[in-house]
Amino acid sequence: MAKELGRVEEKLYQNRYIVDAGKPHIAIEPHTIPSRNLLAMTKVCPAGCYAETDTGQVEIVSDGCLECGTCRVLLEPTGEITWSYPRGGFGVLFKFG
Ligand code: SF4
Repeated sequence: MAKELGRVEEKLYQNRYIVDAGKPHIAIEPHTIPSRNLLAMTKVCPAGCYAETDTGQVEIVSDGCLECGTCRVLLEPTGEITWSYPRGGFGVLFKFG
């Protein structure tokens, strides 16, 4: 019998995050209409950090960021976001196993 692997959300809940208050490591440049890639992040980000506002812009709360780099690959080259790793001692702490 196959071992039950559980839901992704349950696994993500096992991780811990140390938030560097007031110093988010990802920032979105001001925009009126988001690009397709920026809007796609509201569906693609595995941690659900990106969200569309009521007025159609995209915002980010990077507190639960997994540092996977997906948004960095898609949006940093176009200048739509600035992205850096959290300072030492902050960010995600993965639980393995
Ligand atoms: S690095 Fe990954 S987890 Fe973090 S905000 Fe970007 S897509 Fe989401």
